[in-house]
This record gives sequence, C-alpha cells and structure tokens, in this order.
Amino acid sequence: MSKSTDDFRRAGHEIVDWIADYLDNPRKFPVLPDMQPGDLTKRLPSSAPAKGECLDAILSDFHKLVVPAVTHWNHPRFMAYFPSSSSPPGVLGEMLSAALNTNAIVWKSSPANTEMEGVTLSWLRQWLGLPEGFFGIIYDTASVAVVHAIAAAREMADPEVRTKGGTRSLTLYASEHAHSSIEKGAIAVGIGQENVRKIGTDSEFRMKPGLLREAIEADRQAGKKPFCVVATVGTTSAGSVDPVIPIAEVAEEYGLWLHVDAAYAGPAAILPERRWILEGAERAHSLVTNPHKWLLTPSDLSAFYTRRPEILRRAFTLVPEYLRTSQDSVATNLMDYSLAMGRRFRSLKLWFVMRYYGWEGVAGILRRDIAFGERIAKAVDADPRFERVAPVHFSLVCFRYKGSDEENRTLLDRVNATGKAFLSHTVLNGRYVIRFAIGNFNTTQQDIDEIWDLICQSAP
Ligand SMILES: *Cc1c(COP(=O)(O)O)cnc(C)c1O
Repeated sequence: MSKSTDDFRRAGHEIVDWIADYLDNPRKFPVLPDMQPGDLTKRLPSSAPAKGECLDAILSDFHKLVVPAVTHWNHPRFMAYFPSSSSPPGVLGEMLSAALNTNAIVWKSSPANTEMEGVTLSWLRQWLGLPEGFFGIIYDTASVAVVHAIAAAREMADPEVRTKGGTRSLTLYASEHAHSSIEKGAIAVGIGQENVRKIGTDSEFRMKPGLLREAIEADRQAGKKPFCVVATVGTTSAGSVDPVIPIAEVAEEYGLWLHVDAAYAGPAAILPERRWILEGAERAHSLVTNPHKWLLTPSDLSAFYTRRPEILRRAFTLVPEYLRTSQDSVATNLMDYSLAMGRRFRSLKLWFVMRYYGWEGVAGILRRDIAFGERIAKAVDADPRFERVAPVHFSLVCFRYKGSDEENRTLLDRVNATGKAFLSHTVLNGRYVIRFAIGNFNTTQQDIDEIWDLICQSAP
C-alpha cells in the first residue's frame, strides 16, 4: 500500500464521519457566515507550499478557516434563492465519480458514463411524464443548458449561421419574469440583448400568450426573424407557471423553438397532483430541470431533454480525427451534443439518489416541502402585519411586511444576522418582497415554525 492511499484511508474515514455528522445536523453552524469580503483570503497563505503537507494539517485548516466562511446551502434553515439538498446517497455517488474520474467524451472513453446518463435521464423522464422521444443529456447548470437550447434553436431557424456567423435579426421571447440566464444565453450565442423580448405577465406573473403573439407579429413586420420562445415553469422570483399549452400553440404557428425552463419546479411534476405544470411540455423542443435544486442531488447536475436531438447535434458536433472511433455509427458520443468536450460522471449521483429513495421516497419529501410552503402561506395570511404577493404552487412563499421597502429590508437583515436562517428577496410589482424557499431534505416542521417566529419577532 502506498503512503498516499494509506493517508487517504485514514483521513477518508475521518471525513466520512464528519460528513455524516454534518448531514445529520448542520444546525450548530450559522447558516450565513459573519464575515467581510477578503476576511478568509487574509488568513490563508498567499502562495502554495513548496513541500507537501500532511492531511491532518489540511483538514485542521478546513475546519478552522474554511467552514466558518461557508454559507451552508445544505442547511435545513437555508431558505434563500432556491431549494438545494445534497443527500447522503448523492454525496456517495459524487465520491465514487471523483475516484473513477472517467470522462464521457465519446462512448468508448467510458461506456458507463454515456449509458448511465441515458438510463438515469430516461428514468427521470418517465417520472416527469415526458414522452419517450425526449433525448436526455446532463449539463452542469440550467444556465449552460439554455445556451444549448438557444444554439439548437438558431440551428433550426438559420443553419447557415454555423458556418457563416452572424445571427441576422433573430429574436427571442421570454416572460419578464424569466431567469436572467435566458438573456445571458442569448448574449453568448450572439443573438444580442436588443433582440430579447420580455413579454408581459398577468396578475399571477404568468406570460400572456396574447402579448407573445403581438410581439412576434410586430417583429415580423419589422423584418426580424422570431426563432425561439422560453416558457418558465416555476419562475425564480415568484414560482409562477407560464401557460405552456397556448405558448406551444404560438410557437408551432410561427415555427419557433420552444424551450421550457423548469429548473426549480420541474421535479414537482413527478407528483400526480402537480403533473399539470408540464402539460404541453411534450410539445416543447427542449426542457431543463435541475436535480441539484429540488431532487436531493449534489450540485451540479442539470437534466436537459430535447425532442430534436439531431438539431442539437448539428449545432454542436465537430469531431477531430483523434476522437474518431469504430463505434461512431452505433454509439452516442455525448460530446456531439455539448459545448464541453470533457464531461464528468454526473449521472452516478442521480442514480444513487433515485435508487435509494425511489419514487415514493422522493415524492414524500416533495409533498412534505409543499405542505411546509402551505403552512407558511397560511401563517402569512393569518397575520395582519404581512401580505402574500404570489400564489404558492410549490414550496416558495413570497410575502412582505405591510410597510415600506426599507422596513422589509431591515426585517430580512435582522433575520439573516441571527445566523439561524437565511432568506433572500426579490422585487415584484416594483416592491421589495421576502422569499421563503423550502426544500432541504433535513428541514423539519420545527425549523419552519421557528423561522416564522423569528420573522414575526424581527418585524418593526
Ligand atoms: C435556478 C434557475 C436557473 C439557473 O439555474 P443554474 O443551474 O444555477 O444555472 C434558471 N432558471 C430557473 C427558472 C431557475 O430557477
């Protein structure tokens, strides 16, 4: 046995024990660290050591310096941004994938990566109720996934761009509440910010299909070329659900690529009572959902599906001679569908999660989170000092103190400064709104109730 694996085995056992304790109960850590920018950098050496150090010293600094500077995303009282859960089976899958260090460039470069990615995404597709024709591929994030969707849409609308460049007045549509990654994706693909149309929404923050049609008509009259529309199922700010069916109708009428962004809320579609959120999604050209948000999987793992894999492939395939294999005609080479050539073994952690919990386990956790959301919504509605500002379809509750934006900001700062919970904010209808986003696998009703008490105590 080499010294380095000997060290690994000893430290590895210690680390697994630490992880188990951490996953059991991270509540002893403040959710948000009390520090200023640069604090940690100042405490770390400015250059790497010339001589190797022992793992004990590294681990000791991890506990002493690094952990106190961490925002605990995996904390049961992390209620900011969007849900995130790194579950024990997910962590184990991640460990094994680091050890194998395989790379799914082409099928031959690691058959297990390519085939497991196909199998786990097919399992997930079935849970979500999406049709068999949807081809699945894993990207790191929904933001990178939408770059692929927009590039495929461009390939469908104007295949010459691939060789000649220039996107020749293509215009893209998404609701004013769509995630910023849509616009960023359009920037990256060369569509240009000025060609992104932000479509108005109704009182529940859902895209108005009539306004979408009007915007497309106006662009066509102006000589533009509408090519892509993004429908959001579970917006980041408010958890609203765009009406996918009428949007699909408009997309079909004008020949647009339809991308469904279900990054946060998608997993809820595995529940029969929430299946409606993906009604019409079978007509989409592509769809993304993030198991690294609300499906118990460590970051990063974003599941992308497309009904038109041949177009995605046309947009991204470019095979250098040294990567040609004798199986090319019969195997899927995932690099052909992706900007990244090197692709790590992400499906392994999702496979662990799906097998360990099964549909029933995952559904139970999602239902519990949705019930917690309803509990907070009820508490808000019952308290005359607060008002709710959006319907609650999932586990995200948007509310505000009935006072000034400044008072709401102060309230949120007070709650977060306790280290007992971390919530974030957004702006809806021009007003500051507090977001209570539930979805960690360890969150209990006691956590929810104590955070609500803390909010009430922090009100002016
Ligand atoms: C979180 C989120 C994104 C971005 O996801 P990343 O994986 O962090 O890039 C995009 N769209 C929606 C609706 C989201 O909730």
